Amino acid sequence: MADTSLMQIPGHIDPLPVPRDITPRADGRVDLIGLPRKRIAELFEAAGLDAKAAKLRSRQVYHWLYHRGVTDFEAMTDIAKTMRPWLTERFVIGRPEIVLAQHSEDGTRKWLLRTDDGHEFEAVFIPDADRGTLCVSSQVGCTLNCRFCHTGTMRLVRNLTAGEIVGQVMLARDALGEWPRGGGTMAGLDDDEDEGSYTADGRLLTNIVMMGMGEPLYNFDNVRDALKLVMDGDGLALSKRRITLSTSGVVPMMARAGEEIGVNLAVSLHAVSKDVRDEIVPINRKYGLDELLAACAAYPGASNARRITFEYVMLKDKNDSDADAHELVRLLKQYKLPAKVNLIPFNPWPGAIYECSTPERVRRFSEIVFEAGISAPVRTPRGRDIDAACGQLKTAAQKLSRAELDRLAEEKQAALG
Ligand code: SAH
Ligand code: SF4
Repeated sequence: MADTSLMQIPGHIDPLPVPRDITPRADGRVDLIGLPRKRIAELFEAAGLDAKAAKLRSRQVYHWLYHRGVTDFEAMTDIAKTMRPWLTERFVIGRPEIVLAQHSEDGTRKWLLRTDDGHEFEAVFIPDADRGTLCVSSQVGCTLNCRFCHTGTMRLVRNLTAGEIVGQVMLARDALGEWPRGGGTMAGLDDDEDEGSYTADGRLLTNIVMMGMGEPLYNFDNVRDALKLVMDGDGLALSKRRITLSTSGVVPMMARAGEEIGVNLAVSLHAVSKDVRDEIVPINRKYGLDELLAACAAYPGASNARRITFEYVMLKDKNDSDADAHELVRLLKQYKLPAKVNLIPFNPWPGAIYECSTPERVRRFSEIVFEAGISAPVRTPRGRDIDAACGQLKTAAQKLSRAELDRLAEEKQAALG
């Protein structure tokens, strides 16, 4: 194999100081994961292919990367054998590195992951009887500091790249063994079994929620680019109806999210008065309740068939009274919102200053909202034993020594067979 250590990839030096979509690696190769088909074609052309060949190869490679999930160019059987080493010398097919894989007693799985530059983040898979949901992170840490959220106690380290975001979904499919099988040719060219959408039938991973670490609308471009790859029929082919983006209320980005991404919207409301929301969701001081609810009412694509989810964390004696429930109903009706409410029992973490409302209080709150004609199920906490539940994500790995982490990873690997 050629010595690639000094190899330069020509043509990717931006004339303007725009953020790069590719991360230069020490060995000079470029990670293709996270790049759209067009960008892959540009890179192939810059590496020496003529325009027509670059376009054809990029279509083939794209299909293998995102639809089939292969991690080795040698597995791309419709690409000439002589072409595969050419690709291997110049490009890689990355995945986030798994530092630790944990399995909860309720079936929830959590992966502690690491970026190439050493930052840790998490993804959580939650299996249910009729669906399986992957909770995806958008940032390492969070700039916002909602008072009840463990992630909010971390500072923002950095935004995740599109590759690191879509990489979480790809890694979950790897772990669940859920890449479509088939003859190994491109979509549309006599493939046998899996054209069209990736359907829920018999699959484990059916839904995605952008509810891991970070505020997705503060990393808009990368979240959008990653979700486009997830939604593309020749990519991961998951329907936008099965994807939900949760925001704490970044009002100026909400319309764009609807127009450019078009997935389901969830809003972390959590309080119905200025005072309480200012305290527990501090972004409320910037974008208040009225602005937020007006932006929800204008959210493109929201309808009775595709309602907006309002998340409401149940905090004892803070936001859980009958009056709060009535006010919630009043606000949702005032803005004529096609809404459902998701009541989340507060998940505690060390040092948290709140307690969860009592089960009776949660039930009563839910009843009041239900009686007004708005669905208000209580979310069952999942994966609490491995700190995988909502708001518990915070990479505590740095507290463990390298040796301890390696030992844990080995044990898990052995346990998983
Ligand atoms: N940053 C985005 C998405 C990630 S948080 C947002 O805030 O919407 C996903 C959900 O978990 C949010 O509704 C968040 O408010 C909620 N959450 C955070 N900490 C929690 C905790 N300790 N217990 C229960 N829910 C929590
Ligand atoms: Fe950030 Fe969401 Fe946690 Fe608030 S709830 S601190 S926005 S991750």
